[in-house]
Amino acid sequence: MRRKGFTLIELLVVIAIIALLLAVIVPSLRRAKEAAWNVICRNNLKHYGLAGQMYTQDNAAMFPNAWGSIFRSIEPDRLCQWHDRSRNPILRPELAGSLWDYLGKQDKSHLCPVFDRFARQIHVCPSGTNIPVEPLFGYSMNALLGGFELSGSGAAQYRHVLRVKTSDIRSPSSIFFFGEENPWIESTRYVATLNDNALCGTPNHPSDERAWIENPSHMVPYGYLRYQDCLATFHKTTLEKKNEGQSNVVFVDGHVDMENWTDTYRLSRWAKQRPKLYY
Ligand SMILES: [Zn+2]
Ligand SMILES: [Zn+2]
Repeated sequence: MRRKGFTLIELLVVIAIIALLLAVIVPSLRRAKEAAWNVICRNNLKHYGLAGQMYTQDNAAMFPNAWGSIFRSIEPDRLCQWHDRSRNPILRPELAGSLWDYLGKQDKSHLCPVFDRFARQIHVCPSGTNIPVEPLFGYSMNALLGGFELSGSGAAQYRHVLRVKTSDIRSPSSIFFFGEENPWIESTRYVATLNDNALCGTPNHPSDERAWIENPSHMVPYGYLRYQDCLATFHKTTLEKKNEGQSNVVFVDGHVDMENWTDTYRLSRWAKQRPKLYY
């Protein structure tokens, strides 16, 4: 005799099977999404690496000034420039840094979807700044490849005094060109690390001799030098373990890899002492 509908037991079995299937599918979907996001991020960085190489070819083999690469100037409000849509160099060419002619006039390649998600969830602007967190930029140039002056004020402060040639880099496959920085503020990290164009992996300024002879054991969070930029920690991790992940970087030779923030200084420093400065 045919029954109509299901018994309670049958329903429970069906629900249990669906729950089991979801438990299997959801994490693998999440992993698939992360993998797709990672491909986007890697392609973005390849694009940055190529733009950087084209820049050096057009500029006597010289790297750009890191602090003037995305934005022409780091002031004002540099801490939140990376998510300030009213300062988008695509729409406001007068703000555009030296790399823009090579990066192209489109929005997409400047942002890692993983960074975008973390930044929207975590970033709190410094007090006094009230800009919606709608990230535009997530990549920063290695400041030891080209940087401005430590002292001075006004325009002089941004003079390109650390001028590095591509031929100076003995191992282009082990020095990073562009990388990701963390979008959150922590007591152990300098608040200005938030994509101010330049990733300076030492607490000292690149035009300071000390920046080149730092003891890596002094790096955050092990030693007394608490203030410095470092590579991001938001890949391959969760929100709860936001300081335990990794960062994508593109190297001077153009290859892309994933690295730990603890290697920031090792991957930044291409010389054992400060190179000559150009005033
Ligand atoms: Zn990324
Ligand atoms: Zn902000």
